[in-house]
Amino acid sequence: MANQKYDYLIVGSGLFGATFAHLAHKQGKKCLVIDKRSHLGGNIYCENIEGINVHKYGAHIFHTSNKKVWEFVNSIVEFNRYTNSPVANYKGKLYNLPFNMNTFYQMWGVTTPEEAQAKIDEQKRAYNEELKIKNEELGLTNEPHNLEEQAMLLVGKDIYERLIKGYTEKQWGRKCTELPAFIIKRLPVRLVFDNNYFNEKYQGIPVGGYNKLIDGLLEGIETKTDVDFFADSFETVSVDTIRLKDEWQKIADKLVFTGKIDEFYDYQFGKLNYRTVRFETEVIDKPNSQGNAVVNYTEREVPYTRVIEHKHFEMFGQEVYDNPKTVISKEYSTEWKDGMEPYYPVNDDANSQLYAKYKALADKEEKVIFGGRLAEYKYYDMAPIIEKVLEKYNK
Ligand code: FAD
Ligand code: UDP
Repeated sequence: MANQKYDYLIVGSGLFGATFAHLAHKQGKKCLVIDKRSHLGGNIYCENIEGINVHKYGAHIFHTSNKKVWEFVNSIVEFNRYTNSPVANYKGKLYNLPFNMNTFYQMWGVTTPEEAQAKIDEQKRAYNEELKIKNEELGLTNEPHNLEEQAMLLVGKDIYERLIKGYTEKQWGRKCTELPAFIIKRLPVRLVFDNNYFNEKYQGIPVGGYNKLIDGLLEGIETKTDVDFFADSFETVSVDTIRLKDEWQKIADKLVFTGKIDEFYDYQFGKLNYRTVRFETEVIDKPNSQGNAVVNYTEREVPYTRVIEHKHFEMFGQEVYDNPKTVISKEYSTEWKDGMEPYYPVNDDANSQLYAKYKALADKEEKVIFGGRLAEYKYYDMAPIIEKVLEKYNK
């Protein structure tokens, strides 16, 4: 191995690692990408079950307004016309999301934007009065102090109680009165009949699934799965067996690390916390189970937050019925413990301060690039990850 040193050893084959490797490879750099999982692609990896691409680590919908990012991903794989239009199920009644004229019609029977606005204003006004009195009694400033107050001021009682409260409490494992207001600062309220969840200009799913995107990005690049950067030994092609964490410089000039930053530094300041999701996936012996890719269950009593029916991301019209089976995943949001997949960083003060300590160490590294959601301890959608790597390379 010593005689064929890599320019980059890239730890993690998720979207950050794979995009980085792709651009470096195009510039003639020699890369080795390793991943501790038995497959490439990180969290966008799909498993094919009954001819359906199942989003193994949670439903992923690509969306962006950045033309460069959109053109870049489309240069790797074509994207389909999937438009995310989740439906909320509250006690058996269905409501369209995001909150728009369809939702207001289903909620109140109002048919014009004026009527809908009047209804929302009436509810907001009523709550504003209530909050003012409460804050005065408690000697607090007249502003929302938690997520419940923020949501009630933005959309009023009916929408909050039916479509926000239960879902949010399940997702975060805490009461809305104990959650910070900022989580829900931007709740879009649309006075048009538009069920498109995203405001971005472009969205879709790769034709043939996300694995095509990963395979395209990593084409021509050496990859090794089932290799943990922190494991005791790494079998190189030569006679040497090395511990990558301590001796990676023997095989590469630079390291791109997309794993957990606290693990990189041996948890010396303590462990960062995460929220995670448990998936219960089942094959159903019929072609169409819920008629939509995403159905949110917004009442507290249903233990899961949402049900994903994977075929609807990639099959439309008759295609849905051409496959006699379907696959659904129920999502349960839970607190993260060692051994579980770390999904969402917890952006509270304690974790932010802890991350800042690790970041200070990372900033001093000259040969290590930290990137992606685990190394930067930041929730990133897919497009911003690509945007970041592209920026780095086009500088
Ligand atoms: P990852 O995909 O996590 O890749 C990191 C890789 O590093 C993993 O493969 C891991 O196995 C590997 N690794 C870690 N430690 C080691 C080690 N010690 N040795 C070797 N390998 C290691 N974004 C959207 O745009 N739209 C969505 O709809 C969307 N839905 C999401 C739903 C969920 C449930 C989650 C969690 C995320 C969602 N995202 C979505 C965000 C998207 O998943 C991320 O933007 C993207 O996966 C980040 O890529 P990454 O490379 O930073 O991380
Ligand atoms: N949310 C909600 N009801 C829903 C969907 C979302 O109250 O049916 C709230 C919830 O608080 C959630 C936030 O909106 O945390 C953002 O949800 P979204 O699905 O847009 O983002 P993600 O969970 O993917 O980060």
